[in-house]
Parts: sequence; C-alpha cells; structure tokens
Amino acid sequence: MRMTVIGCGYLGAVHAASMAQLGHDVVGIDVDEAKIAALAGGLPPFFEPGLPELLDRALATGRLRFSTDMADARGSAVHFVAVGTPQQPGALAADLTYVHAAIDALAPMLEPGDLVAGKSTVPVGTARAIAARLADTGALVAWNPEFLREGFAIQDTLHPDRLVYGLPDEAPDVARAVLDEVYAATIADGTPVVATDLETAELVKSAANAFLATKISFINAMAEVCEAAGADVTQLADAIGHDARIGRRFLNAGLGFGGGCLPKDIRAFMARAGELGADQALTFLREVDQINMRRRSRAVDLAREALDGSVLGRKIAVLGLAFKPDSDDVRDSPALNVAAQLALQGAAVLCHDPRAIEPARHRFPELAYVETVADAVRDADAVLVLTEWDEYRELDPVALGQDVAQRIVIDGRNCLDSGAWRAAGWRYRALGRPREARALQAA
Ligand code: NAD
Repeated sequence: MRMTVIGCGYLGAVHAASMAQLGHDVVGIDVDEAKIAALAGGLPPFFEPGLPELLDRALATGRLRFSTDMADARGSAVHFVAVGTPQQPGALAADLTYVHAAIDALAPMLEPGDLVAGKSTVPVGTARAIAARLADTGALVAWNPEFLREGFAIQDTLHPDRLVYGLPDEAPDVARAVLDEVYAATIADGTPVVATDLETAELVKSAANAFLATKISFINAMAEVCEAAGADVTQLADAIGHDARIGRRFLNAGLGFGGGCLPKDIRAFMARAGELGADQALTFLREVDQINMRRRSRAVDLAREALDGSVLGRKIAVLGLAFKPDSDDVRDSPALNVAAQLALQGAAVLCHDPRAIEPARHRFPELAYVETVADAVRDADAVLVLTEWDEYRELDPVALGQDVAQRIVIDGRNCLDSGAWRAAGWRYRALGRPREARALQAA
C-alpha cells in the first residue's frame, strides 16, 4: 500500500520505517530538513534501539523514502499524521499549530477516497474538526492513536497491545477496511482491534496516559507517606503488586514521570475537559501532576540533607539525563530538572548519560557534561542516579567508592541494590525509603 507519514520524530520515523518493514511503500515527510537528510541517509536523528538497523533494511528495499515536500504525499492511499502536539506556552492546553499546518499543507494533495489517519495525541474533538476542514477534498478522516513506548518503539509499533481505530461516521466500513489492510500482518499476529468513533479513539489515548500517570503518582504519594512514617515504599509496592487487580508494573516509586507525552498529555486533558464543562472530572489530575513535580524537589532536598544542609560548592555527579532509560529524550526530564536545580543552588554538577548528553546540552548548555561515569564521579561529594540505565544498575559500588570524595549515593529511581552499596561503605539514600537512612545512622 502506498502511504505517507507526516512528521518524522520519535513516533513518525519509527512508524514510517515499520510500515515499510511490513511491506508498504512509504514516504516520510517532515518540515525539518536536517532530520529528513539524516533519515534518508539511514541515520536516525535520535536514539531508539534497533532503529538504525530497521532504517537500513527498509531503505535498502526501496520502499521507504523521506522528503520535505508535501507534494510527495500525492498518490498515497493513507496519510498518517504524526506531528508534535506540545503544551502551549503559558497554558495547560495542547498546541495544535503543527497539526493544523500539516493538514493545511496536505489538503491540496488529497484525492477523494484517501484516508487521513491521525496518530498524534490530540484533544477530543480535533479529528471531527479536521474532517470538517477536509470535507471538500473527499478524503476520509480516522484517528488511530499511538501507544508506543520510547525504548521499545519498534516492538510496540509492529506488535502493539491493541490497535484503536476512531472511524468517521459517514463511511466507517471503508475506513476500517483501509486500516485493516495497513495492519494486516499485525492483525494476523493476533493483535486485537478496537474500532470505535473518533471521539472515543481520541479519549482512549488521553485516558490511557492519565491512568499511567495516576499509577506512578499514586506510588509516589505512598513514598511521601512512607517517608513520613518510616516505612519502605519498594516493599510496599512489591506487596500490593502481588494483587492481580493492582499489578506491580508502573509502581516504581522514584523521581516520577516526564518526557514528551505524559506531563503535557494530562495537562491537555484537563484543559480540554474544562472547555467541555467536565473539569471537575479531572481535577484529580492536577494532584497527580503536583505529586509528580514534588518528587523532583524532594530529590534535591535529599541531596542537600545528605550534604549537611547545603550543596553550595559541593561536587555532585549526576548519572542519567534522559527521562527514561533506552532513550535520548530529555523533554521534561525529571533527571535534567534535578541536575539544573542543583546547579542553580551552587553545586558543581557533572552530568553523564549513555545517550542523552547532546540533547541535554542543547536544552541546558550551562550544565557541565562528561563522557564517562568515571569522569563524573571523580572526587564527587555525592553521586545521584536519576535515570535507571542498566549501565548504572550494574555499577560496582566497591570500585566506584575508590574514586569519590565521599561515599554518598542518592538512588532517584530505587534501581540500585541498596545492600551492596551499603556493604561497600556508601551512605545510601532513596526516595520513599527512610529506613535506609535509619539503617545508616545505626551503622
Ligand atoms: P517529535 O517532536 O519527536 O516529532 C514531531 C515531528 O513533527 C518533528 O520532526 C517536526 O519537525 C514534525 N513537524 C512539525 N510540524 C510539521 C509539519 N507541518 N509538517 C511535517 N512535519 C512537521 O514528537 P513525537 O514524540 O514523535 O510525538 C508526535 C506525536 O505523537 C505527539 O502528538 C505525541 O504526543 C504523540 N505520541 C508520541 C509518543 C512518543 O513516545 N514519542 C508516543 C505516542 C504518541
């Protein structure tokens, strides 16, 4: 099938390459010339495991190309829209400028019967407005929200938990048949399809992200209570997670969520609910957001407490900048936020990340970055682990202890073996685990 993917960022580049892998003839279109040149040369402009190999394979088939010219969308049967929908500056709502610009540029290229399939995360009602805007082209509009996780994006695109189709009222069967053909191989693998109307499909995505954010903030709220009560949040999570109705996944207390999706998506959801007169239904998301943001300040407080009340002039190694491991995405990254707060409070912060140094430097050029963990920790007064990369989980606390000025570690993700670190003489502190601090005082 011939198809277009408009917007070749974290979502669109993976989608375009994956669709070519499934046998389709794909053109990826983006306004960013540097990004398109990199992708056309087989070099992803961001880190995603497996993407360089997938791009190479797909480009070699001749079924994948990249362009900055929307005219190349002509002749495609399906046009996926995967452009960014960031938070509006100074407001909670989503900024739909890029979606509207993409649709305006695409409109003259459309033929009657084409399907425009939105993948971007948008406020409910957007798809219907786009359908009205495109009515005179004869194209159909569907919404096919995306649930991929960065770090697992290829697996999630080729083998998603489910496919969601928001179908147009006027010809749902036609749109469904097109999407079924796009995803024929995925469906043949047993992926369930939930076919519904446009509004429900848009809301499925918002609701899924709101639920995930709530689950993370729930356990982080428990971490706050554990800190006050002298309990251990990781043991609490293990214990409640055994209940199948609760489940252990997404119950890791720590620095909380960040990235280009959850924070802006729950805010956009609140803003949209307000416009619809349903703001009361989502006021709890404000609390979810606040619990999440408090974790960042708490990590800074832990560092200050561990350093006897002030970080001024203290040398701090920050390990981890990406908002999650296996990604170089630093959009609204809790780790980067903590690093910046410490630097602003006068600490000499040396930052390391296996993949995200350049994107982090781009956002915060004033922070100091080093290429190796050894360079970050040398003579450090405290080591903060803020993204749970395997490289950090596997650090040898005995060897590392030789290089630092003081053996103080703050585990911002509850990802280290506290026993091993303490046995190696480290003062180990973590969010939601004050007993670790008490064990230290008793030792
Ligand atoms: P991104 O910023 O990495 O990519 C967006 C791309 O769109 C950029 O390359 C940008 O240059 C391009 N673009 C902007 N305006 C354009 C236009 N008029 N024409 C063509 N291209 C244009 O963002 P992303 O992370 O890929 O997210 C894209 C959308 O997908 C968002 O709505 C996001 O919420 C949603 N989403 C993202 C993920 C994820 O894990 N990244 C997962 C699910 C859903």
